Amino acid sequence: MADLDATLHERLASIVGNAHMLTVAAEAEPYVVDWRGRFRGRARAVVRPGNTAEVAAVVRVCTEVGVPVVPQGGNTGLCGGATPHDTGDEIVIALGRMNRLRAIDAANATITVEAGMPLATVQQHAAAAGLYFPLSLASEGSCTIGGNLSTNAGGTAVLRYGNARDLTLGLEIVLADGRVWDGLRGLRKDNTGYDLKQMFIGAEGTLGVVTAAVLKLFPASRTQVTALVAVPAVTAAVALLELLRSALSDRLTGFELVSGIALALSRKLDPALPAPMPGHAWYVLVQGDDNAPDSPIATLLESSLAAAAEAGVACDATIAQSAAQAARLWALRENISEAQRREGPNIKHDISLAVSSIPAFVDACSTALEQSFPGARQIIFGHLGDGNLHYNLSAPENHPAGDFLDHATAVNRIVHDLVARHGGSFSAEHGIGQLKREDLLRYKSDVEVDLMRAIKRALDPRGLLNPGKVL
Ligand SMILES: Cc1cc2nc3c(=O)[nH]c(=O)nc-3n(C[C@H](O)[C@H](O)[C@H](O)COP(=O)(O)OP(=O)(O)OC[C@H]3O[C@@H](n4cnc5c(N)ncnc54)[C@H](O)[C@@H]3O)c2cc1C
Repeated sequence: MADLDATLHERLASIVGNAHMLTVAAEAEPYVVDWRGRFRGRARAVVRPGNTAEVAAVVRVCTEVGVPVVPQGGNTGLCGGATPHDTGDEIVIALGRMNRLRAIDAANATITVEAGMPLATVQQHAAAAGLYFPLSLASEGSCTIGGNLSTNAGGTAVLRYGNARDLTLGLEIVLADGRVWDGLRGLRKDNTGYDLKQMFIGAEGTLGVVTAAVLKLFPASRTQVTALVAVPAVTAAVALLELLRSALSDRLTGFELVSGIALALSRKLDPALPAPMPGHAWYVLVQGDDNAPDSPIATLLESSLAAAAEAGVACDATIAQSAAQAARLWALRENISEAQRREGPNIKHDISLAVSSIPAFVDACSTALEQSFPGARQIIFGHLGDGNLHYNLSAPENHPAGDFLDHATAVNRIVHDLVARHGGSFSAEHGIGQLKREDLLRYKSDVEVDLMRAIKRALDPRGLLNPGKVL
């Protein structure tokens, strides 16, 4: 092992340079623990390649000597997919230095970027060209486009623009044997056989390393409207969605459900945030966008909310009067994950259902959890517009949070069994990583698991790309 390490370190350092090869534990620390602090591993080394040729050379050398690799972007993933195992025999390939803009093609409405570019930087480049890249997550300052594609990230604008998969036209991939597949095509139509890029999107680094991507851009939004609406129940939130969708059509870009408890947590983290309409059990954050500068969306939203109030679907609403006010309403929603993290250990679920099934699911799930874990706080929020809820459970107030995680398996079983019974998915946007492998085997059919294993064997026959993740 020591001999292998010495030779391997030398070979890898000669590819990426000594400065970009981290072998000292303190330097490697940020790369071996996940964002939530739930997974901690060890690595032989962390390498930080600067371009595609260096990634390819690193993978080639590792494959040659049979050493597994773990691709890593911003390390904001919530399923431990980017964290090495504690065996200490893996090499982490951190893509952060690969953050260059390769091209913007305004006529084709596309942007080509390297995988390590932070999502917020992609958005900024698009905006500088007068265009818009709609993928948006609370972690966008840190997560990278390579990680977004590898997890098929969702976020707050899926309702209108789809998830990362829907925004991708082409990919550049380093394969398990170190070859580079150049699929960087900016084509909206290309029926020349299997659509290979789809395999790598959402594969969590288990089939190849994403090194660059061609992404779709859209006209910039010129008129925005943001409202926080108090609603009496989840059924009412779904009815409000139907009403607003028919009034605003695809100008309805965000529709986020936030429970009263989740909103209170968010304000606990930042008491300076607004507290309009306190005391309701449920709220919806509504976002409308239009690329026409004189769009009537604000008036349309106002009249729709008045109709919603009349129908008993909305209790009260506040409409942001400025961009700053809109940002503060959004901060209420986007703070929730961080607020929950500060509150102590919690058991998270990232589920999706047909929107029409959500009220019945929430009823059944909240009853079942309250029966089994009386007093546990159900922190429910998420992208209701596209059927995705974060259904999280925190320890009862004043309960020693430490041992609450011991209930994780039992809690997961209750939530995910009910999701399956309602025809939903146990992982909507965060992926599988090492957190949900058991669930994958429990809820996917044998046929689906066989097909996934066949793809893995075909693309990574030696099992060296992010082993033990997903499958
Ligand atoms: C506060 C907060 C809010 C969040 N909100 C959302 C949300 O709304 N929607 C959502 O979908 N997610 C959300 N996330 C989760 C996370 O930000 C996303 O999963 C994001 O896409 C991960 O990107 P990353 O660059 O941090 O990837 P990492 O965490 O570094 O990696 C994630 C997975 O992708 C693989 N990977 C990373 N880069 C590459 C690459 N170049 N090639 C191949 N594989 C690679 C890793 O091996 C790992 O399996 C949130 C996270 C936080 C902390």
